[in-house]
Amino acid sequence: MSFHVPVEPQNLPSLVRERLGDQAYRANVLRATGLSLVKRARVVTDYRDWENMREAAHHIKALVMDHLPTYLREFESQARAAGAEVLYAEDAAEARRLVVDICGTHRANLVVKSKSMVTEEIHLGPELTAAGIETLETDLGEYIVQLAGEIPSHITAPALHKSRQDIGHLFQKRLGVEYTEDPEQLTAIARRVLREKFLRADVGISGVNFAVADTGAICIVENEGNARLSISLPKVHIAVMGMEKLLPDTASLSLFLKMLARSATGQRMTSYTSLIRGPRRYEEQDGPEKLYIVILDNGRSRMLKRPELREALYCIRCGACLNTCPVYQLIGGHGYGSVYSGPIGAVITPALEGCAEAPYHPFASSLCGACAEICPVKIDLHHLLLRQRGNAVQKGRTPWLERLLVRGWRLIMQSPALYRLAGRIGSCDSWSRWLQIREETWWSRGGPFKEPFHRRRAGHSKTFGAEGRSGYERAGKIFQQSWRGQRGNSAGRGSPPYSRVERRE
Ligand code: SF4
Repeated sequence: MSFHVPVEPQNLPSLVRERLGDQAYRANVLRATGLSLVKRARVVTDYRDWENMREAAHHIKALVMDHLPTYLREFESQARAAGAEVLYAEDAAEARRLVVDICGTHRANLVVKSKSMVTEEIHLGPELTAAGIETLETDLGEYIVQLAGEIPSHITAPALHKSRQDIGHLFQKRLGVEYTEDPEQLTAIARRVLREKFLRADVGISGVNFAVADTGAICIVENEGNARLSISLPKVHIAVMGMEKLLPDTASLSLFLKMLARSATGQRMTSYTSLIRGPRRYEEQDGPEKLYIVILDNGRSRMLKRPELREALYCIRCGACLNTCPVYQLIGGHGYGSVYSGPIGAVITPALEGCAEAPYHPFASSLCGACAEICPVKIDLHHLLLRQRGNAVQKGRTPWLERLLVRGWRLIMQSPALYRLAGRIGSCDSWSRWLQIREETWWSRGGPFKEPFHRRRAGHSKTFGAEGRSGYERAGKIFQQSWRGQRGNSAGRGSPPYSRVERRE
C-alpha cells in the first residue's frame, strides 16, 4: 500500500489513478464495504416501517435546520445550566485556537482523543502536536491510521483499507512488538499502550454524535469504550460538534440511535451510548470536572442558506452511502483526498472547503442513486451531487478541454449546416477507421482510467465497461442519408425510416 500523491482534495484525479492501481487497497475496501452492507441488510429488516422511520428522521432534521438558531440557543442555555461551557467557532482556525487555548489553560501535556470526524475536519491533531501537546487517538482504527501517518479512509471505519497483515507489520515497525496478525492480539497490544495513556491524560477530546436541545446533553456512541474513558478519566473534556448535530428532544434521539447503529455498523445498538449533561456533579464518581462544548460552523451557515445544499446538513455520518457507492468501493476514502469521502463527501467537501479546493468531487459519482436509497435520513444525495456539478460548471471549474468540447457541441447542435457537416465528417471512411483503431487500442487499455476499473462482477467489462468491447460497427449511412433515401422512395414519402420497420413487424 503506497501513497505517492499528497492526499488533498485538489489531487483527486491523480489519487483516483493511484488508488485504482493499488490492488491490495481495493480488495480491502471492497471486502469491508461488502461486509458492512450485509450486516446492515440483516438488521434493517427488524422494522417493517423502516421507510417511515427514514421519513420521520428526514422531517426531524428538516425541522431542526429550519429553526437552527432557536435550537442552538435552547441547547446552549440548557448546557450552560448543567455547568458546561459553550463556545462557538466560526471556522476551523478558530476552533483549533479555542481547543489549544483550553489545553493551555489547564496545562495539558497529554490529550486523549476519541474518534471524531469534525476534529479531522479542522485538522486538530497536528495543531495540538505543533503546540507541544502529545495527542493520542484512542479509537483502534484512528490509532492505526495515526501510527501510519494517514487520514481516515471511512467515516465510521477509519482503517478499513488495511488488512490485519498490514496492521501486524505496522505495529511491528512502529511499536517494536513481535509480528502477529491475530486480531485479538493486535487489539491487546493497542489496549496496553492506550490504557496507560488514558491514566495519564490531562484532557479528553471527542466529537458529538447528537446534541439534544431540550436537555443540553451531548450523546456519543461507540463500540470500544474509548470515548467513555476519554470523558470519565481526564479532568477536562472538550467536545467538538458541528452545529448540524442538534436534535430537538430525547424522543427524537431514540429514533436516531436506532437508525445510526443499524446503518453504520449493522448493529441493533452500539456497545456504548453515553449521554453527558454537564461536568461531574459533587455526588458522582466519574466524569470531567470541566466540560467544554465547542460548536463549529466552518461553512455550515453558508450551506444552510443554500436551499439546494441544505439537505446535506441532515447527515448523521453513518457511512452507509460510502459502503454502497460503486465509486467509493473502487477508490476508497483516500481516492477523494478529503476527510469526508463517498457521496456525502463529494457533496460537502466543495461546500465546506470551497469549489476551488475541491472542483472534481461532485463528478466522483456514478449518479446511480444507491446512496440516496440507503441513507437513513433520506438525503437526496444524487440530486445534491448534480446540483454541485452545476455549481462547478457555473464557476468554470471543469477542465478547459471539456468546456471547449461542450461549447463546440452546442454550436453544432444549434446550426443545421454544422450538424450536417459534422455528420458527414463522422461518416467519412478513413476517419471512422481511425476512430475504430483508437477505440480498440487506447480505450480497451483503460482509456482515461489506465488501470482496469471494473473487475468485480463476473461478466462485467474490465475497464469501466470497456473490456471485451470491440470497435463499434458502422451503420454505413448516417441518419440524414437514410432519411433522404426514404423520402426519395415514394412508398415511404414523409415517413421516418423506422416506421417501415414497425410496419414490417
Ligand atoms: S449521507 Fe446519509 S448515508 Fe451518507 S453518511 Fe450521511 S446519513 Fe449516512
